[in-house]
This record gives sequence, C-alpha cells and structure tokens, in this order.
Amino acid sequence: MNATLTFLGSGTSMGVPTLGCTCAVCTDAHRPGSPNRRTRPSVMISFNGHTVLIDTGQDFHAQAVRENINAIDAVLYTHGHADHILGMDDLRPLSFRLPEGLPLFADDATALIIERVFEYTFRKVDRYPTSARVNIHRTSTDAGTVIPLFGADFIRIPVQHGKQIIAGYRVGGLAYLTDASAIPDESLPLLQGLDILVLDALRREPHPTHMNLANALATVEKIAPQRAFFTHISHDLDHESTNASLPSNIRLAHDGLKLEFDIATT
Ligand SMILES: [Zn+2]
Ligand SMILES: [Zn+2]
Ligand SMILES: [Zn+2]
Repeated sequence: MNATLTFLGSGTSMGVPTLGCTCAVCTDAHRPGSPNRRTRPSVMISFNGHTVLIDTGQDFHAQAVRENINAIDAVLYTHGHADHILGMDDLRPLSFRLPEGLPLFADDATALIIERVFEYTFRKVDRYPTSARVNIHRTSTDAGTVIPLFGADFIRIPVQHGKQIIAGYRVGGLAYLTDASAIPDESLPLLQGLDILVLDALRREPHPTHMNLANALATVEKIAPQRAFFTHISHDLDHESTNASLPSNIRLAHDGLKLEFDIATT
C-alpha cells in the first residue's frame, strides 16, 4: 500500500530562525520559502484515506494551515518535550468531528506529561467543555510493540535521547527516529530493509541529547536504508551547502517535503 510522508516541521526545539539570532542561516530563514525556515519537528503519514501524525509541536496550527489538513485519525507521540506535544490543544476542532474522540498513543512517561500540561482536557470532574475530545492509549515501551492503525502496523523503535529512552516508529519501509542521541542495539533488528530512514541531525558540534551530523551519517551507514533524511535541524546547518556535501541518498529534510513509500512491507 502506497503512503505519503509529509514533513510538517524539520527544525529543532527553538525553531529556525532562532529568536534573537542574526547568523546567515537565520537571516536567510526570514525569506519566504527559504528551506532554512524550520518549524518544530513533526510528520504526517497519509495512506488509504487516513492521516496519522507523529507529534504535535508548538507550530502545529501553522503547519496544518500550510498543508491544508482537514482531518486527523490518530496521533503517535515520541516523548513529552515541549517541541513534540505543545500543539495538542490545536487538535480541538479536528477532534470534535470524531464521535469516539481522537486517539492519541503515548507511553506512560509521555502520557503523564500530556495529562499534566493539558489538565483541563483530561479532568474527570469539571472538564473544560470545549477542550479536545481525545483519548490517550498507553503504549508499552517494549521494542517492537505494534500499534495497528487502519491496516498498517506502527512499530515502536526505542531510541536513546540523552539519558532517556523515547519512542521512534517504523511503519512499512519508513522509520522516523527524531530526538536520538544513539540507537540502542535492541532496535537494530527492527530497522532492517528500510526504504526511508528519518534521523535526528542537530548540528556539527556534538550534543548530549541529539546526534550531530557525523553521528547521523555513521548511523545511516550502519542501518543502510535506501534513503535517509535528517530532521530536528538547528541553524548550524545551511540547507543548500550541507546537502551539497552529503552522499546523494542522504538529504536534509525541509518543511513541506513529501516522500512516497510502501507502508505494508513489514
Ligand atoms: Zn525535540
Ligand atoms: Zn542563527
Ligand atoms: Zn526531546
């Protein structure tokens, strides 16, 4: 089954342009249409008339307007950091259309943060009447846990994010591994035979909780997908010149990038 991956956002937690910064990349990012303009990281997977999001960051509203998103069927969360969850409230109008509510999938640690941040949404008594009609489904943290959605199997891929283990996801020929400082060995067998690997590549300098460009390139070599796209990118990496330096099957993602893949190859 054919599916489309859309990068809603390809930027790091601070976004690009980074507020207060006047570097060349941030300056270029003010230009409308610049590939250096990077909103907070999130992707949309569309297949068989259904739409699944991975994460909803602070920029979700603007991303949904840009991509003309009119319906969402489920959201998978990677972890509870602001740049991955703070757009949850913007799901409200989309959730009202679903009689059963919109399913959100998150592990315990992430679900607890979402429930704390949006406490008025999940309150049993005196719930705010027009808050998002969402249901959190707690997912296991076990490597390889399958979340079946609309005929596709979303598989949990544990990813190291500094001292934390968070969720990456594989579906068919695609794996989305954002906020990764390393890929644990137990995840490697789940990443064989990939068409598209989406991986965190923050900047050139090392970072305690994210891969830098050199780590990301070494990880692509180890996992050996057909194609790799880097995301969660800071203002350290200029789009055009960095791409020119990369092997031809590895590219920096950019906001709005769309890729086709086979969702049912596992
Ligand atoms: Zn992040
Ligand atoms: Zn900058
Ligand atoms: Zn994070």
